[in-house]
Amino acid sequence: MSISVQNISKTFGNQKALDNVTFSINKGEIVGFLGPNGAGKSTLMKILTTYILADSGDAQVNDYSVADKINVQKSIGYLPEHNPLYLDMYVKEYLAFNANVYKVSKARIAEVIEQTGLTPEAHKKIDQLSKGYRQRVGLAAALLHNPEVLILDEPTTGLDPNQLLEIRKLIKEIGKEKTILLSTHIMKEVEAVCDRVVIINKGVIVADKKLNELRDST
Ligand code: ADP
Ligand code: ADP
Repeated sequence: MSISVQNISKTFGNQKALDNVTFSINKGEIVGFLGPNGAGKSTLMKILTTYILADSGDAQVNDYSVADKINVQKSIGYLPEHNPLYLDMYVKEYLAFNANVYKVSKARIAEVIEQTGLTPEAHKKIDQLSKGYRQRVGLAAALLHNPEVLILDEPTTGLDPNQLLEIRKLIKEIGKEKTILLSTHIMKEVEAVCDRVVIINKGVIVADKKLNELRDST
């Protein structure tokens, strides 16, 4: 199992963000985590990436418990919803900085630039890039340490229609060799990119279906 979540609950003050959430993701799946704003998607993703702790329940990534921060973070590439890019850095410089933090070889930087279609922009400063290319930089950084699992929080929100299609295509391509959990509030995105959908509303999982089952039932 690439991701397994058992009975996770999380409350902020008196706001229940996650209520007894359970689901799992097999190796190689691309799963859409679908729900409206405030449903609890980011909260669950932050628990999986070990940035925050659940109040109760347990979760594993690549069979490592989220209590094992080091191994879980090695297993995961994370693209947060509001990715704090260093706008004043050149693309290559930013990736080199991240490669250094994760002790990744220089050769790997060229690979992720190629893989994410950043080659024509790699010599530019991040603040010169369109939003779509900034997302590619975020994806490239998430891929640097060659993690088995990618956690992508609303990766296409705010993109223009053209960029949105390009980023979806790229994610689908990357998904041929990774396990992906992708959050979105758009069913169309799930249909375009994912094999399965887990639907969350007000912190509760309300559906978990393969896309072909959904198609057959409509
Ligand atoms: P989504 O990602 O689906 O939009 P979130 O996980 O961001 O939802 O939020 C779920 C709920 O938890 C919301 O009601 C949100 O306001 C609340 N929440 C999330 N993080 C915090 C926090 N750090 N403090 C207080 N409330 C929070
Ligand atoms: P993200 O989507 O990346 O979580 P947000 O802008 O939703 O970014 O949240 C920024 C920070 O504020 C996060 O750490 C989040 O947990 C926290 N947060 C979100 N909702 C609330 C809330 N209702 N009250 C307090 N903090 C919140």
